[in-house]
Amino acid sequence: MSGVMNFKNCGSVLITGANRGLGLQMVESLASEGFSPGKIIATTRNISLSQKLQELAKKYSNVHIVTLDVVDQESIEKCAEEVGQLVEEEGLNCLINNAGINVEADFHSVTAEKMIENFHTNSVAPLMITKAFLPLLKKAASRGGSGIMRIQKAAVINMTSLLGSVELNWGERANSFKWYPYRTSKSALNMVSRCMAVDLESDGILCMAIHPGWVRTDMGGSEAPLSPEESVASVLSVIGGLTEKDHGSFLNFTGEQLPW
Ligand code: NDP
Repeated sequence: MSGVMNFKNCGSVLITGANRGLGLQMVESLASEGFSPGKIIATTRNISLSQKLQELAKKYSNVHIVTLDVVDQESIEKCAEEVGQLVEEEGLNCLINNAGINVEADFHSVTAEKMIENFHTNSVAPLMITKAFLPLLKKAASRGGSGIMRIQKAAVINMTSLLGSVELNWGERANSFKWYPYRTSKSALNMVSRCMAVDLESDGILCMAIHPGWVRTDMGGSEAPLSPEESVASVLSVIGGLTEKDHGSFLNFTGEQLPW
């Protein structure tokens, strides 16, 4: 069975930043294929501006839209409460921390404010969101039995970037994308993923970070080699096939390990 097919047996998936780009594509791909999970919870910071999401929710009864601004703690707590009412005793199986921003700034233009803005959205928010959703993830994990870790039980997936790899930012590769705020925020997200993997292991919650490839979204730009459909098909296939051996990992969209 391919990894993507595995979503069929997944009770609920929540995706942050689903208004456009990879988040929206994940919702559409999960809803429209034959491997759709029971509940697809698409979060966006402004439902009234999320036209495409609204169309998907009208077309597919398992798509639910919930408001979430990932840098607003009150919004995070309200979202967790609403999702709790949606998933009830089954809990939340798979949390995908996808929302992200790229504050472009090199050594000369970077400021403390730019660093902090990028860190808040890309590194701090996934941690705060996971903390808020922990009771729901634990509920799902406890219902999943004592078997191996997988998304059908409980998992936290952090959408990271190859640009966060400290090891790869050297030699020829170091001469492009000199973005201090973005790169360091994704390095921090990688460490957040690893720390959470250590802390949530005893609860049976799989935690990992995945790079979606370079994709033609508003963030990736028109020069990127991958379409959102191509990237998301691979990403969902990898996520769907995750097991214990992938707990605490940093994977490429192809499923290969990436250097930290
Ligand atoms: P886009 O810029 O196309 O979309 C970003 C999404 O994040 C939007 O839906 C946006 O919502 C949402 N978002 C940003 N800030 C917040 C916030 N405070 N609260 C709620 N939602 C927010 O990016 P991509 O789809 O390309 O990227 C998705 C993820 O993949 C990101 O984490 C990114 O770093 C990562 N990634 C992308 C790559 C690429 O090539 N595209 C490469 C490597 C990693 P809104 O519409 O309201 O602004």
